[in-house]
Amino acid sequence: NPPSDCPPDVEALGRGTWTLLHSIAASYPESPSMSQQSDLLSFVKLFSKLYPCWVCAEDFRTYIGREVPKVESRDDFGKWLCGAHNDVNRKLGKPEFDCSRWQERWRTGWKDGRCD
Ligand code: FAD
Repeated sequence: NPPSDCPPDVEALGRGTWTLLHSIAASYPESPSMSQQSDLLSFVKLFSKLYPCWVCAEDFRTYIGREVPKVESRDDFGKWLCGAHNDVNRKLGKPEFDCSRWQERWRTGWKDGRCD
């Protein structure tokens, strides 16, 4: 039998969560209102307390303390989030992602028609 995804392990939880977080960035306005900016900042901070992989959450809180979340625009947030994801990639020995292309991966689709 293939490994079960029920309940999700740290990897399955991570993949699903990055999909949600990058998709929130992709749908965030280019020019958010003050209240949209403060909602996103609150969400990121609460997320960092509630994420149910506690060592992951602790490192993420440390990252937020070092690199303050940028919520002034879609591209600012998307690039900040990409940097946060790359920080985890480095820790896990995974390849770094080219953050100039985050919108192609998560919003518009790759120019060559791929999705990953
Ligand atoms: P994932 O890292 O889940 O990435 C999914 C897809 O996102 C990739 O296939 C790629 O297309 C795209 N992608 C990759 N990098 C970027 C980027 N920088 N920007 C935009 N898109 C990108 N796991 C641990 O073992 N220890 C931890 O401490 C840990 N901390 C985590 C903290 C957070 C906040 C989250 C959400 C997850 C954390 N994880 C941690 C899980 C880990 O990041 C991966 O999700 C998991 O290892 C599965 O990896 P994956 O190779 O399937 O791809």
